[in-house]
This record gives sequence, structure tokens and C-alpha cells, in this order.
Amino acid sequence: MADLRAVFDDQRRAFRTPTLDERREHLGRLAAMVVRARPRIEQAMAADFTVHPAQLTAMTEVFGVAGQAAYAAEQLPAWTAPQQRFADPAFAGTATAAIEYQPKGVLGIMAPWNFPFLLSLGPLADMLAAGNRVIIKPSEVAPACAELLRELVADTFAPDHVAVVCGGVDLAKEFATLPWDHLLYTGNSAVGREVAMAAARNLTPLTLELGGKNPAIVPTVDAESVAQIIGNKAVKSGQVCIAPDYCLVPATQAADFIDLARAHVAAGYTASPDCTGIITGRHLDRLLAMLDEARDHGHRVITLEPGAETDRATRRIPLTLVIDPDDELQIMREEIFGPILPVKTYRTLDEAIAYVNAGDRPLGLYVFTPDAAVARHVLDRTISGGACVNTCAVQGVLPSLGFGGTGMSGYGRHRGIEGFREFSNQRGVFTRGQADTINTFFPPYT
Ligand code: NAD
Repeated sequence: MADLRAVFDDQRRAFRTPTLDERREHLGRLAAMVVRARPRIEQAMAADFTVHPAQLTAMTEVFGVAGQAAYAAEQLPAWTAPQQRFADPAFAGTATAAIEYQPKGVLGIMAPWNFPFLLSLGPLADMLAAGNRVIIKPSEVAPACAELLRELVADTFAPDHVAVVCGGVDLAKEFATLPWDHLLYTGNSAVGREVAMAAARNLTPLTLELGGKNPAIVPTVDAESVAQIIGNKAVKSGQVCIAPDYCLVPATQAADFIDLARAHVAAGYTASPDCTGIITGRHLDRLLAMLDEARDHGHRVITLEPGAETDRATRRIPLTLVIDPDDELQIMREEIFGPILPVKTYRTLDEAIAYVNAGDRPLGLYVFTPDAAVARHVLDRTISGGACVNTCAVQGVLPSLGFGGTGMSGYGRHRGIEGFREFSNQRGVFTRGQADTINTFFPPYT
């Protein structure tokens, strides 16, 4: 904790606004760092998850970060250019008005375990683009990734520019109490609330990236919609904040949904290297308890792959459907964050929409239909951080699309121009010209 404070003070002292070329160079260094370290990042992910597909690590943790840094570097001239604003000549004469973007200063990132590089270094790209200095606190739940992140960043950046501090919950709590110029927390809502309270004591501006229950509304059940939903649930065994949490299916099409889901899952998937392990034994037990509770309440629990079983050694669980679970069950009260998909049935689309709106506002919402009017109907009557039509989660991977939640799924945005602006001080600058009427505000009034 003394180190954290010392690094924070050093960064504060060293802070100055970098030039555009310097920022571009920082982003290039970040991209090169992850690309060079690709094999080590793949190993660290496999160490923390027991099994984590190398290709998926490359696509998300390596090229996801490099792509975001490259996109920000390319956009920098447009993002940093002052935005000219209207100044009414009747009042302002020949004056000019503009929003200018300055760095905020020294920023903190509290990252989760599920995407340990993408969700620390991705926001770092936004923050470097905006000209800030940054300290990252990785999650203690993925220790191999945290240690590698610390080493890579220490080899790439001066500690008074970008640093990583590793430690447990005590360090995380302390981290939230520092007087950051902006703090980004990604993780669960219960801790998010504590972080928000700690930040409030310093009036620290905060971005909260939380989770929740993302619905997939499926007015049209067909092979493609089911493949998108089941495929997305299989990514990292559902340990993705924007994975579909549960789906809403017309009662008349539930049997089709189950058949198509079964057909989609290849035999042998659970035992293959493409099936990610659950992060810890505690997280695995929580998921198994959810399934036990559903069975105890007499609900149909369907393992999609015939004969597939949970493997405690590698912490892998087969993809499993739970049909029409009661809302009192843990599986419908909490974010699942695992390879379990509740299939709730509905009679009318508006009933499905009302069900979604009765819950907390989700991070992601997905609708599956070939009919653009039906998709519009759903989008116009729901509110979520992001949404997709006819797929899931892609709103969370485009470098150009600002990303974040709303209501209980969080506030603020990172990535794209939204991220750049979030981590910039957006200063309104008025430059006086001639022939204005500013003096009419000064006493004496006539
Ligand atoms: P986690 O346990 O790794 O915690 C996240 C961070 O909080 C870590 O850095 C940890 O050190 C810190 N922390 C833990 N306890 C703390 C405390 N008492 N006080 C202060 N800090 C503390 O991650 P998690 O919460 O298990 O992550 C999973 C959750 O994160 C899910 O709800 C998921 O939906 C959400 N998530 C959201 C996004 C998003 O972008 N919105 C992305 C990924 C995950």
C-alpha cells in the first residue's frame, strides 16, 4: 500500500500534457507489448482458468487490446481537435467558443478476472489517448495474469507513467480511496457500490462497469438465432459480462429451441480444449448449486451434449438449459456468469418486454428476428447499456463503439470516442473578440 501511494504521488508530480506524437508512441508501445507477449499471455490465461483456448486469448486479450490501441492512435487527430461551438454574435460579437480536450491527470483502473488484459489494457488505451497517467489494480482472482501484466507494463512504461500494483482485497479497498482524477471499476455490483462510496469521499469521477442479467428475446427461433445464443454462451463458458444470461422464447417454439440447441452443440465439446474452465472451485460450486436448486424445484435441466459431465479437475461444466425456471430461483435472481441458459417462455412479445422491464436495466440486450419492425419495437421499449439485433455481445467488441451500462449495470463509457471523452477534461473555452455585449452584465444596469 505504501508502494501504491508512492507511485501515485510520483505520477502526480510527473504529470504534464503529452503531445499528439507522444500519445501515438505510447499507444504503439502498448500494442507491441501485447503482440510480443502473446504466447506468455496465452499461458497465463490457461494457468488461471485451467483451460482457456489460445485462439480466444489471442482474439480478445492480445489483438483486442492491440486493435483498440491502433484504432485510438488513428483517431487521435480527430478526437483531440477542439470542437467549435456556436456563439451568438448578438451577445458574443466576433468571439469564438470551443470544447477543448485535456487529460484529466492520474487515473486508476480496477480490473476483473474474466478478461484480465482486455479490461485493463483496453481502457488504458483510451486513457493514454487522452494523455493521462495510469495505475492498474488487476484482480487477485487471476494471479498468473496479474503478475504477467505487472511485469509487461514495468518493462514497457516508466512507473511514473503507467504502473501495475498487485495485491488482494485490502489493496483493492485502499486503491478506491485514493484521490484519483478519474477511477474506472469493472466487476460485480456489490463491490461497485463500495467503490462508488469510497470514490464519493474524494468526489472522484467514476466509471462503473458492472454486470447483470442480459436477456436474449427470440421472437423467431431458427437454427441461426439458436447458434448465435448457444455459441455466445459457450465463449469462456459464459464468464462474459455481455453474454446472454437467459432467453425469452415464444411458448410455441420452446421445443424447437431445445432441439436446435442440442443439434448445435457438437459431441465432445465439454472435454475439448475449446471449453474454458470456471475460474475457481468456489465459482464452480455456485453454478452447480444453481442447477441443484432448479432440479430440486422440479424444473427440466437439460445437458445439451449427451453424456457430458462436470469435470472438477479442469472445472468445466457442460452447456445446460433450464426450462421455465421460477423467478425466485437463484438462477433468475443473480447474474449466472457460467454455461447455464434459462429458457423462459412467453405468449406475446409485449409480455416478454414487460418481463425485461420489470428487472434491472441490463448491460446488453439481444433480439432475434428477420423483421426490422419487430426489432425496432423491442429496442424502442427497452433500455440497456448496449444491444444487438440477430447476434449477441458484438456491441462489446467494436473498437469504435463506446461501451458501458445503465442503471444497475453501471454508468459512464469506455472505448472509442466515448472513452476518449470520458477520460478527458472537456473544457469549454471562450475567446473574446469584438463588438460583443458582455458589458451589459456589469452593474450599474441601465
Ligand atoms: P473480481 O472479483 O476480480 O473483482 C473486480 C475488482 O474488484 C478486482 O480488481 C478486485 O481486486 C476488486 N475488489 C474485490 N473486492 C473488493 C472490495 N471489497 N473493495 C474494493 N475492491 C474490491 O471480479 P468480479 O466482480 O467477480 O467480476 C465479475 C463481475 O464483473 C460480473 O458481475 C460481470 O458481469 C462484471 N463485469 C462487467 C464488465 C463490464 O464491462 N461491464 C466486464 C467484465 C465483468
